[in-house]
Amino acid sequence: MGRSANAPCPCGSGIKFKRCCRPLHNGAAAPTPEALMRSRYAAYAVGDVDYVMATTDPEGPVFRQDRAAWADDLRLFARLTTFERLEIREVSPITDEHGEVRFFAQLRRGGDDVSFEERSLFRHSGGRWYYVAPLGASAADR
Ligand SMILES: [Zn+2]
Repeated sequence: MGRSANAPCPCGSGIKFKRCCRPLHNGAAAPTPEALMRSRYAAYAVGDVDYVMATTDPEGPVFRQDRAAWADDLRLFARLTTFERLEIREVSPITDEHGEVRFFAQLRRGGDDVSFEERSLFRHSGGRWYYVAPLGASAADR
């Protein structure tokens, strides 16, 4: 949250944070699943766990009712992890309601490489995209 608005966006777009993912963190709707994916990665990187929770599909399996404990878990994860790089590897054709994004997140925790690849499912509802769940994840697959 201390990130300068003029710094490059943590999502790796090459655009300033204030012109890339921060407007989404401030309430703008992500236009595509990829934009939501990028903004969620950036939210982890800046520790904006409220955004991560707010963009998780309330009807999906990853959503948690215990918001305080969930926020604590997310904060801990964000604090212990260095978000080095995001690579969007594949974006599926978007239907009216669903989209898929395959990405690689290069992460470190302590001295460990905890990078992973994931194909994520997104759902469109009420004019907004939400992250539903991973469709298949593999550790440090590159
Ligand atoms: Zn961004």
